[in-house]
Amino acid sequence: MEERIATVVKNAGSHYLLSELPAWEPFPAVLRGKVRLQKSSATNPVAVGDQVKYSDGVITEILPRRNYVIRKSTNLSRQAHIIAANLDQAVIAVSLYFPEIKLPFLDRILLTCEVYKIPALIALNKVDLYRGEAPEAVDEFRRIYEGAGYKVIETSCKTGEGIDELRKACSGKLSLFSGESGVGKSSLIKAIDPSLAPKIGQISLAHLQGKHTTSLYEMYKAADGYLIDSPGLRGFGLVDLEKEEIAKYFPEMLRVADECRFVPCTHTHEPGCAVKAAVEAGTISAERYNSYLGMLEEDGKFRKSF
Ligand code: GDP
Ligand code: ZN
Repeated sequence: MEERIATVVKNAGSHYLLSELPAWEPFPAVLRGKVRLQKSSATNPVAVGDQVKYSDGVITEILPRRNYVIRKSTNLSRQAHIIAANLDQAVIAVSLYFPEIKLPFLDRILLTCEVYKIPALIALNKVDLYRGEAPEAVDEFRRIYEGAGYKVIETSCKTGEGIDELRKACSGKLSLFSGESGVGKSSLIKAIDPSLAPKIGQISLAHLQGKHTTSLYEMYKAADGYLIDSPGLRGFGLVDLEKEEIAKYFPEMLRVADECRFVPCTHTHEPGCAVKAAVEAGTISAERYNSYLGMLEEDGKFRKSF
């Protein structure tokens, strides 16, 4: 039978649903044993978002991935689980308050996106709750993150503000939604596409602790695009970086690091450091620089799963 190419839209253990995007007509498929054996250290050989060749309901080949995100398959395991592949962007939902934001945590997610080569967009949610009282905090947040090179969309699931803009930003793309529990990630997805309401945000954290996480990743067609929810995950990633590599994944540091007098430069104590000069001049934010210093502090390498 003729071989065709489709995208994996659901991964349910050993069964998959494929669709020949942009057509949304999911159909079941299984994996040929041989393909299964070619896997790396990942617990799942095929992930949502993978482009595959298939014939007669059997996946015969996984095409090279443009990017992917992984997490440890269980807390103790060293094996990785691929959450999704070939993402066009990550939408990071945050809220300044209720719950209060931790910038180093956001910076770590953004760093992970940079490592994985996934453009990140920040949805600054729940602005109805705090922009009135703390407009300067909102401005400050935008200054920090737009200054670093990220797009920030202010949203409110309560008033509907920013939802059209977020929907547009997701149009025609495969987006992974991520965010700390309680920031309104599920609400944002439902606001973008109310038809997804019954499906999103229903899965409890407890289910994620076990091995059967594969079935949880599913792509949804929404608002002229496709999205993947990462239920219960506060973020994602599993990053192994040498200290001297970290600054490369801060886009605003990367832009000026060429001008440092010493190569390599850790941007901490070296004379003639362009990054430190930029922090002093205020063109690189002190908050982001502090997050960077915090990452350097961690023993040698840092390896963390979210
Ligand atoms: P998730 O854990 O990130 O998926 O968060 P949820 O979508 O479940 O939202 C957590 C809580 O915040 C719920 O009570 C929502 O109704 C509320 N919420 C979400 N978005 C907004 C918003 O924009 N404004 C306000 N005032 N509340 C929101
Ligand atoms: Zn430097």
